[in-house]
Amino acid sequence: MKIGIPCGLLYYSFYLLWKTFFEDLGAEVVISGGTNKSILNYGVKTCVDEACLPVKIFHGHVMELRNKVDCIFIPRIVSISKNEYICPKFCGLPEMIKNSVPNLPVIIDTTIDIRRTTGTIESSLMSAARLITKDRARVMRAYYNALLRHRVFEENLKSTGDFERSLDKLNIKTKDNRRKIGILGHPYNIYDDFANMGIRNKLIFQGFMPITPEMVNEDKINLNASKMPKRHFWTFGRKILGTGLTFLEEKNVDGIIYLSSFGCGIDSLMEDYIERYIRRERSIPYMKITLDEHSGEAGVDTRLEAFMDMVKWREDYESNISPYGGSICGNKRFS
Ligand code: SF4
Repeated sequence: MKIGIPCGLLYYSFYLLWKTFFEDLGAEVVISGGTNKSILNYGVKTCVDEACLPVKIFHGHVMELRNKVDCIFIPRIVSISKNEYICPKFCGLPEMIKNSVPNLPVIIDTTIDIRRTTGTIESSLMSAARLITKDRARVMRAYYNALLRHRVFEENLKSTGDFERSLDKLNIKTKDNRRKIGILGHPYNIYDDFANMGIRNKLIFQGFMPITPEMVNEDKINLNASKMPKRHFWTFGRKILGTGLTFLEEKNVDGIIYLSSFGCGIDSLMEDYIERYIRRERSIPYMKITLDEHSGEAGVDTRLEAFMDMVKWREDYESNISPYGGSICGNKRFS
């Protein structure tokens, strides 16, 4: 049996887990491949206009797969952490796809909701495997094996910050003298190089080292996120905020770029929080890039170049005074 996995949304977080699980059960896993112009166009044509870019791209990946496989894995994700939720678009994703994309094969729309009890994981797994086997022991074995590989992938992502290299289990050098740029955002905005126009590679090419949330110590992220007056219950929103606050606390990045999706409620809140904290607590270059389906690269390149120049100048010319009269290297006003 051929099971398709669309390379969008939480593919960037859980691909190896899902692939290993299905392959262990004897299925052949087929992926839709990297996002490209035609996938984006398919997505824009089939998806409702109001959706964010990552959801449109996901539609395009499903279009790409639909004639190549026996079924497509599109889980209905409610929660991936205890007492937290993720964006409601994930809960309605299978229904959105079924209503927008014609001529679909079978959709495996397992519900994943681990907000309350661990018991639900087992029923989710049985539901995901239902077209292949009903043998509970075999399914659980495949899951634990997949979980082990997933942990290795997560460790690799921590050190490389690169999705492809982490899949290859390659580690890069630990000591790195490049200027570091913190990248904030959802994983599908950070690791989909078509959607973000290769921002990480552009930074690397110019001698910077991008630091993604997956590279930051999880305990510190949780600790810093918990300093908010109210618990933030969106899993990825909390991670983005905790990472941003960790960058500011540890002073280990020279600038921060927030990659947000046009029309994303969670991003609109988080980017505002982050900007306020930066203004209040530490003066470092900050840039927000909003991603949508427009694919002209020149605008992004210009902003990125200006941002990189600003980061370099701050370090190279400490006595630089900004046009409005304040030192660009600190919060003090120039008088
Ligand atoms: S969190 Fe934002 S970017 Fe992600 S699916 Fe929801 S609306 Fe789209």
